[in-house]
Amino acid sequence: MSSNIRDLVSFLDSAKSVYHGIDSLKNKLLQQGYSPLQEHSAWDLVPGGKYFLIRGGTSLIAFRIPQQQAKGFMISASHSDRPTFKLKENGELTGTYVRLAVERYGGMLMSPWLDRPLSLAGRVIVETEHGVESRLVDIDRDLLMIPNVAIHMNRKANEGYAWNPATDLLPLMGGKEAAGKLDKLLQELAGGKVLGHDLFLYVRQKAAVWGIEEEFISSAALDDLQCVWCCAEGFLNSQQSAAIPVLCVFDSEEVGSSSLQGAASDLLDGTLQRISGALNLDHRRLLAQSFMVSADNAHAIHPNHPEFADPGNGPVINGGVVVKFNANQRYTTDGMSAAVFRNLCKKAGVPVQSYCNRADMPGGSTLGNISITHVSVPSVDVGLAQLAMHSCYETAGVQDALYLADAMACFYSSALEVTADGNWNIQ
Ligand code: ZN
Repeated sequence: MSSNIRDLVSFLDSAKSVYHGIDSLKNKLLQQGYSPLQEHSAWDLVPGGKYFLIRGGTSLIAFRIPQQQAKGFMISASHSDRPTFKLKENGELTGTYVRLAVERYGGMLMSPWLDRPLSLAGRVIVETEHGVESRLVDIDRDLLMIPNVAIHMNRKANEGYAWNPATDLLPLMGGKEAAGKLDKLLQELAGGKVLGHDLFLYVRQKAAVWGIEEEFISSAALDDLQCVWCCAEGFLNSQQSAAIPVLCVFDSEEVGSSSLQGAASDLLDGTLQRISGALNLDHRRLLAQSFMVSADNAHAIHPNHPEFADPGNGPVINGGVVVKFNANQRYTTDGMSAAVFRNLCKKAGVPVQSYCNRADMPGGSTLGNISITHVSVPSVDVGLAQLAMHSCYETAGVQDALYLADAMACFYSSALEVTADGNWNIQ
């Protein structure tokens, strides 16, 4: 396994919750000399400076200031969250056993969550002398299980079963004497009185690289942490161009992006405006020479069900970066943005595939078309081909991750110069 893929695997394993994924990315940026900014403080940005900010613990924006006068922003957007289950308030259900009360976050495949060790991670808010403080928490052991009903009691289990999240999917934590122990454990781990929490279930199974040629990678949250890792790699390994490279990782994509820190918030717009203001540059002129890559995984042709793929536009795993198209703008790609991205991939020596939904299937959407209603720049939707999207353990390609990292390094090393509407020099 190459050192790059080892790094991807360790990133995936570190990201036990949306908070832990962003924390892991923060540590990588700190190691590479990026300075943290606070939204409530004044920003003193200098040429050659490297910066990042975090909002809500779950969204992050990093950028660099070029030495020369900046021409525009080269932006990528991917998402930090995944479908999972969130612990409710009054989270213990007591009785014959102690189970946890959880509710769905996003639209997951439910059956993969059963019969496998699970635990809880996220953040807790503890009381301090002067107010409250957020702390990361990971109950780093096999703590929970959602047991199936035996075939003898559900003879129709293999004929398709409608899971009820209120009754079928409550994780078992202990016998009846376990009552009250979760709160105690959280308090111990947090080191203070817990006044609030945002805690999510995660699967204990680590990421795996497998297949006859070790060509596949499986993990929780490949959608979209695989793209997060690739965009971050490309961002960190790029040469400085005349543009301002901007790495965005947003929370809340799986629930519509409308949160304090999601792609529908003012986080990106506000940040870009502050950068233009700090550099004394005309914001509208910068935006007119900017470009966004919205990176979120795509459905590969399924080995057992090729009929779900579009006949001419079904991507294969390890076939290259996927450009996603949708006439109704669920994906932002148009002919122009596809052409710019294909040009960059050609420079990077990276193969490109295309994805369309079958004309009779609505498919999904992503954060690009939400983000550009706030920051209106030309945008392309891309991703990596994967299987079992929104399972708690998904499968994608090893080589594809390297392809997207290379494509993003080329993207972030480039700047656009608009010569007329629809005509661009890519430098
Ligand atoms: Zn996604």
